[in-house]
Amino acid sequence: MSKQVRTAIEPTREENYAEWYQQVIKAADLAENSDVRGCMVIKPWGYAIWENIQRILDGMFRETGHRNAYFPIFIPKSYFEKEAEHVEGFAKECAIVTHSRLEDDGKGGLKVAGELTEPYIVRPTSETIIGESFSRWVNSYRDLPLLINQWANIVRWEMRTRLFLRTAEFLWQEGHTVHETHEDAMVETLKMLDVYAEFAENYLAIPVIKGEKTEGERFPGAVSTYCIEAMMQDRKALQSGTSHFLGQNFAKSSNIKFQNRQGEVQHAFTTSWGVSTRLIGALIMTHSDDNGLVLPPRIAPSHAVIIPIYKTEEERAAIMAFVEEIRLALKAVRYDDIPIRLEIDDRDMTSSERGWYWIKKGIPVRLEIGPRDLQNRSVYMGRRDKEAKDKQGLSFEELVEKLPVILDEMQENYRQRALELRLSNTKQIDGKEEFYSYFTPKNAEQPEIHGGFADSHWCGSTDCETQIKDDLKVTIRCIPNDAKTEDGTCICCGKPSKRRVIFAKSY
Ligand SMILES: [Zn+2]
Repeated sequence: MSKQVRTAIEPTREENYAEWYQQVIKAADLAENSDVRGCMVIKPWGYAIWENIQRILDGMFRETGHRNAYFPIFIPKSYFEKEAEHVEGFAKECAIVTHSRLEDDGKGGLKVAGELTEPYIVRPTSETIIGESFSRWVNSYRDLPLLINQWANIVRWEMRTRLFLRTAEFLWQEGHTVHETHEDAMVETLKMLDVYAEFAENYLAIPVIKGEKTEGERFPGAVSTYCIEAMMQDRKALQSGTSHFLGQNFAKSSNIKFQNRQGEVQHAFTTSWGVSTRLIGALIMTHSDDNGLVLPPRIAPSHAVIIPIYKTEEERAAIMAFVEEIRLALKAVRYDDIPIRLEIDDRDMTSSERGWYWIKKGIPVRLEIGPRDLQNRSVYMGRRDKEAKDKQGLSFEELVEKLPVILDEMQENYRQRALELRLSNTKQIDGKEEFYSYFTPKNAEQPEIHGGFADSHWCGSTDCETQIKDDLKVTIRCIPNDAKTEDGTCICCGKPSKRRVIFAKSY
């Protein structure tokens, strides 16, 4: 798009990607910063996306045998101290409750009182407190596997926050499971990674790479961490979900023991896995354009909006009767196993203003109905995956019949477009010089969109990983699950390497 063309969002992605992201959120009215440092207010359109994420994932969790439960938001400090690596990983970003009362300070204000004998940590993740319950629930191999999920809010005291991507408080789900054997727990860890990947690709239209994290990027206390990584439009990676194999580490610290099939008492094997409101950040950055939010139909709060256009009261009555007829007909149409969700925008604004309002909100389909359309019993349809002016007339019957097909087509277009972006910006790089130039912007002052995913050899040493991180702010996003064994030399030190890994800058 040339610079002369006005876009609904300013700046454009090319001009300033980070600012564009904030402006898309604002224009779509998804969320806002609150007065509480680092915490966001999620507004109805943004929250409806989260509710769709919840509804679909919850169904997938249930389908794979998991059940929901709820555990306390406060974790006694002593629980936290049981797993040394875990404490170290979260110590620097905890909110801690130390008092239980407010008292009159005698100067018209309030003072904090009632110091607790043991401070509570506001949960940054729940392994330790859920483990405490699990130690009581698990006694015999007959109690296993134990497959639990919790939908909750989490607090991690982040210093530099960004709506949806990094906030002090966020919403998520955390799965916690207990198994008899190492193998069973590993099967679960990978199964849930597959669930996340399927959800990301089929519902969010975000193609992901499944892989394992290096030791340096592992969840504190885990034996291994698996992740799904997606490429955003600025070619940076966004970790979109993680699944951890915890071995017996947490079972030992939380004392989760059971009598096995041989009658011996042993520690169990556990897993945990989660995705968060960060997925909304991923959605925004994968699909949106310089005119605002773009939403894949399967996750959009509403599938279509009807924009009635009339001048006189007489026209209004006739058009609104037709709108009602369409509403009822579409209510009976199912898309992705739910009734079509519809908005009717009858506000006193020009049709163009209303149209742009919904373009910026990312609604998949806009249906304009004016006096001429009424005469023909037709609608004038605009699609979010096409230019704003590129509209098409559809008869009432065609609309009812074709809308689910059109939505499916859009869903697939978005997925395909995101996949193409990733494929065309993933490069096998074997030379160190090329690697460094790939990740170095031409304009250091205001870096342009550059780089992408580098598929390069790595010897396995943490020193090389750290060197590249320090030099370029590039990290190993994952060792892909489908990485082939092949001989090569480490992109950093030149020593022999057996496989390629994915390097990228990331959020
Ligand atoms: Zn190396």
